[in-house]
Parts: sequence; structure tokens; C-alpha cells
Amino acid sequence: ADHDLVYPRAPQYMDWHPHYPQLVPAAAASSAAAPRVEFLDIGCGFGGLLFQLAPHFPTTLMLGLEIRVQVTAYVHDKIWALRLAHRRAQAAKRGEVEDAPAGEGVQGEGGDVTAAQGEGNGDAAAQQPSAGPSSPAQRPAKRAKGAKGAPVEPADDDELSEEDEREMNAQLVRGAGDVPGGYENISVLRSNAMKFLPNFFERGQLTKMFFLHPDPHFKRIKHKARIISQTLLAEYAYVLRPGGIVYTITDVHDLHVWMVGHLDAHPLFERIPDAELVDDPCVAAVWGATEEGKKVVRNKGDKWFQAYRRLPDPQCD
Ligand code: SAM
Repeated sequence: ADHDLVYPRAPQYMDWHPHYPQLVPAAAASSAAAPRVEFLDIGCGFGGLLFQLAPHFPTTLMLGLEIRVQVTAYVHDKIWALRLAHRRAQAAKRGEVEDAPAGEGVQGEGGDVTAAQGEGNGDAAAQQPSAGPSSPAQRPAKRAKGAKGAPVEPADDDELSEEDEREMNAQLVRGAGDVPGGYENISVLRSNAMKFLPNFFERGQLTKMFFLHPDPHFKRIKHKARIISQTLLAEYAYVLRPGGIVYTITDVHDLHVWMVGHLDAHPLFERIPDAELVDDPCVAAVWGATEEGKKVVRNKGDKWFQAYRRLPDPQCD
């Protein structure tokens, strides 16, 4: 159930500063000049895409949308662990403070961001959505239990493999090194991507949208729950700027056929031949960075990929 989800009345009421405190200054958060989210990972799961892309586009704001509370909290904690590890390592290099172990202080600055803002006015639409669960009391008990606060324990029991966990801890160590952008440009938001997108994003704001291993909803009766549909594509086309790119990948052939069928049929999207994407660092990340994608590789499954370009709006005379 997503009745507890909060969302802004309109994009201009969304304060992104708590999500990207080093890139979106508090005072400028609502100004038109403030940097805006450009990459959106729909159903980001454990966030593998964001973590891989962050250093490639260090000044581009990227956001993962995820509906599961514990998974969102997990990604949030991991982002903050990486940021803090990186900040401390940089400060230590400058001789400002003593080096601290990676991951310490997960509940510090980043912890504040999960506290609900605007709570108590009773108007869900007027509340400011948080990066994680809406209040500390609502946070799942099982989270961020790793030594020194590092989020080594996945929120969902069986979804993150030992291999993913090892990779994540290695990322924490790398986070303490020289990572362009220091993971300040990525964030996660608990939301239902099928509902409130125009509340968060202006028309034409996004440059990339990712649909990576979306839930397949196999049964015909459940197809309406699929994240790509003709109605939703109109909404995605609204928030994506002309020239922007939609990336899709899945190991479920039937879902691939469904997704490309809908995108091919939509007048505002055109297929991008793979040859045009050879220099795009997003493609490798789409194929290899996500936890679900890695699971498919472990199970020796196939993947189907297709990217689409958002076409310009038709001219009206
Ligand atoms: N993209 C990730 C990956 O490739 O590892 C996760 C894939 S997982 C199969 C699908 C994810 O989408 C789940 O984490 C699920 O909770 C999330 N999800 C499903 N419906 C959603 C919705 N309407 N809004 C936001 N997230 C959603």
C-alpha cells in the first residue's frame, strides 16, 4: 500500500537540498537556477546503477525511485556511508581532520534527511517527501547493522547476494578514495513511480530514464501493473526532454516484447540503434551494474536491452 507516500503539490515545492546538500544550496533550492535532477532510475532496487554512474557524471543529479521502504532506507544509508567516507578521506588528505573509518556516522547529517518535513499539517500533498522512511520511528528495525555503521545488511532477506555485499563493501573502501563527485550527486526517494512523477519533475526536466529489470507481472490480469503502458509513457514523455533517452533491460522476454511494443507504438519515442550508444557509459551500467542484472548473470540467463530517444513535440500550426 502506498497511501502513506508524500509528494509535493508541484515541482517548485520540492526541496532537493536535503537530498544533495553539497550540490543544491539550501537558499537556492527553490530557485530556477538550482541544479535539478536529470537522471531517474525507476524502481532502483538496491541502487547499483546509481553507484556506478555517480562518478561518470559527478555534477549531474541522479535519483532512484523505489517503493519498498526497507530497500529505500538501505540505499539511502549506503549513499551516506559513501559520502561520509569520501568527505573524511578528502579532509584527511588536506590535513583537516584525522581519517575516520569508512561508513562511520551514517546516522549523522544524512540521518536527518529521513525525518519527515512538514509533518503535522495533515495535508499529505503539502508535505515534503523525505529521502527515506517518513520518520525515524517508521524506519525498519533491520538496517545498517554493519560494523561502524556501514550498511552491510540488506533490507530484504534474500535479494542481495554475498557477492553483491562484498562489492558494496569494496565500494565503501573506494568511497574513501578519489571518486569524482564523492557520491554527492545521487539520492533515493521512496515513491510510487506510477503515480506522482509530474509532482516532482517539471516538463522536460529529465535527460535519462532507466527501466531496469522492472517487475514482470507475468499474469495477464496483472499486466496493468506493469511500469510501461501507453498512459504512463505519456507521463514519461512529459518529464523527459526531447533528445532524452529511455533505457530498458529485462531478462523476461515477454516483458521485453511488451516494453518495446508500447514504446514503438508511442509517437514521442524512437528506437536508438545500439551502434549509436557505443560511447555511452550508461549502457555498460545498464547491462552490468544492477543487483537484479547481476543475479541474471549468475543464473546464466539472457537479457534484452533497448534504448529509445524522446522525439521533439510535434509542431502545432
Ligand atoms: N532496477 C533494479 C535492478 O535492476 O536491480 C531493481 C529491479 S527489481 C526486479 C524491481 C524494483 O522496482 C523493486 O525494487 C520494486 O520494489 C520496485 N518497484 C516496483 N514497482 C514500483 C513503483 N511503482 N514505483 C517505484 N518502485 C517500484
